[in-house]
Amino acid sequence: MSARNILVINCGSSSIKFALVNEAQEEFTLSGLAERLGSPEAVLHWQQGEQRDSQVIAGANHRQALSHLLPIAQRVAGGQLHGIGHRVVHGGEDFPGACRLDEVSLQAIRKLAPLAPLHNPANLLGIEAAMKLFPQLVQVAVFDTAFHQTLPEHAYRYALPEVMYREHGVRRYGFHGTSHRYVGQQAAHLCGLSFSASSWLVAHLGNGCSTCAIENGLSRDTSMGLTPLEGLVMGTRSGDVDPNLYSHLARTLGWSLEQIDAMLNRESGLFGLSGLSNDMRTLEQAREQGHPGATLAIEVFCYRLAKSLAAMSCALRQLDGLIFTGGIGENSALVRSKTLEHLTLLGLKLDEQANCRCPRGVASAIHAEGHPRILVIPTNEERQIALDTLALLD
Ligand code: AMP
Repeated sequence: MSARNILVINCGSSSIKFALVNEAQEEFTLSGLAERLGSPEAVLHWQQGEQRDSQVIAGANHRQALSHLLPIAQRVAGGQLHGIGHRVVHGGEDFPGACRLDEVSLQAIRKLAPLAPLHNPANLLGIEAAMKLFPQLVQVAVFDTAFHQTLPEHAYRYALPEVMYREHGVRRYGFHGTSHRYVGQQAAHLCGLSFSASSWLVAHLGNGCSTCAIENGLSRDTSMGLTPLEGLVMGTRSGDVDPNLYSHLARTLGWSLEQIDAMLNRESGLFGLSGLSNDMRTLEQAREQGHPGATLAIEVFCYRLAKSLAAMSCALRQLDGLIFTGGIGENSALVRSKTLEHLTLLGLKLDEQANCRCPRGVASAIHAEGHPRILVIPTNEERQIALDTLALLD
């Protein structure tokens, strides 16, 4: 059988990110983005090898964008597209793994919308359009939350009245599961260990950031909770704050829930602390030039990350390694170094030269000799989604 091709789709409210994954090739054979959907400026960008192209698709909605995209994907796949894998943010407790999409699973995903009101309806737009356009193709949903369904109850329950969990689903779900699982597997492979018999701490640091403790191939704890706001400092998200902040701001400033939500999700994190940017590259440059906000934002980011990793270590009985991934985790030697300064009690120590020389896009070991492993592993959520889709095809 020739190597199969899977189209991976990640739908936002006005955008569709996509990648064509061939199971035998490291690089995506096609990747791109349809953006500003539903507006006169709607446009489809794609890249095949070194060649980049764009097509104006003025006014196109998700379905119209997909109908432009599919012939391109079919052409690049030589007419051999075997399935579509959709990223879905929230699978609640209904989806401990990927699932084949049909009317029953779609209905279950629709019901989860209250848990992820910004993300799941947008993911569904793409799924429903793709299923109407390509009914003959197998379509699979891969959930950000699924990997964390193995958290023990003492890790996923909040100390709230029982009814909140039983009747309203208020518990910790965790996100970025596809990335945590992918890099955990890669790390085990790189070290000649079995994923199902090794233990890892993972820091996924992109625009969204989370940590995870993986034991014997299972997620045992993670820093995000009911929503992706809990936990670490992120690009524009605050991470943990005192839960009384909502009532405090409502009482003292008369703020509405929407105002507080907007501040905590879009105006906080690195952006809010620095007063400058949510982009770590910009902050590192500004810090070099003595910008106090950028300096503080990086300090808080790293300290909170270290605290979270130390907390995650409670879920493990041994440690085979600490993994950094995501745009910041893979590329910022400064963040890795500053974070490790706070983790000496865990016996972790960087080889500073290896940390600074770490080549872009390649997995590397950066720990000092005689100390526990510290690895930089490039994440590849699209590939993991394609692998999960292929597993269900089989
Ligand atoms: P992601 O969401 O995984 O694409 O990660 C985005 C984040 O990675 C942004 O904060 C970027 O500033 C950060 N990033 C990307 N490249 C670098 C780099 N070379 N140094 C520091 N941060 C980087």
